[in-house]
Amino acid sequence: MPELPEVEHVVRALRSRIVARQIIAAEVRLPKLIAPHSPALFNRKLKGSIITGVSRRGKFILIEMENDRVLAVHLRMTGRLIWARDGGRESRAHLRAEFRLDRGKLSFFDTRRFGTLEWYRDRSEAEPAGIDPLSASLSESVLARLVRGSRQNIKAWLLRQDRLVGLGNIYASEILHLAGISPLREAGSLDERERRRLLGATRRVLSRAIGNSGTTFSDFQDARGLEGSYQHYLRVYAREGRPCRRCAEPVVREVQQQRSTFYCPRCQS
Ligand SMILES: [Zn+2]
Repeated sequence: MPELPEVEHVVRALRSRIVARQIIAAEVRLPKLIAPHSPALFNRKLKGSIITGVSRRGKFILIEMENDRVLAVHLRMTGRLIWARDGGRESRAHLRAEFRLDRGKLSFFDTRRFGTLEWYRDRSEAEPAGIDPLSASLSESVLARLVRGSRQNIKAWLLRQDRLVGLGNIYASEILHLAGISPLREAGSLDERERRRLLGATRRVLSRAIGNSGTTFSDFQDARGLEGSYQHYLRVYAREGRPCRRCAEPVVREVQQQRSTFYCPRCQS
């Protein structure tokens, strides 16, 4: 499932291709994508709009229009948002929506159909509840306030989307390993030094993953249809039984909230 770095990478690649382009037509082939709106209404709202920006809020891709309206795309499990020149001969299998632009086209493919397209009147409506972990407004004192009193384990806490947005299963394990914090610790029990390490590790892991175009296991592709390479640099995720990259102790897998957590019992005691 694409997490924050993969979404950020898609956003960066799209920005240079679709900003300042005009939408000529929007064709939604899977009506459930935009429910409760109808494909005809959707086309009417978008047709003729000039795209003024592409940004990311958590795992949402925000396509901003000149009239302040925002189209928010969530890739969920298997969504791919691909820009191509006209006349591309790529397969139309799993094509769920297509935006014909005055140059090229933007296609939304989704094998498992969990992705969503949402329409907002302005940007403030599209703001998620949690804080983006790469935002400058996330300081150690803000993090301290967010975790205060929480008895949830820190791994599950990182996955909540109402505190920090955009983290999923892969990067939560990676961040905790780099920070040297056990995934079993209660979030509210972290002291100031640990919170500072957690914040630093979060920024480092996410920035590196963005720099490597994200992590590709099965379905992730960026706006050019290319795959990420961060899977080659993973420290613990999906490495059960293999040596910890820091101390060589075998990496352990534990199930928390029905999701696998990978960690080193020595570095993260
Ligand atoms: Zn270790």
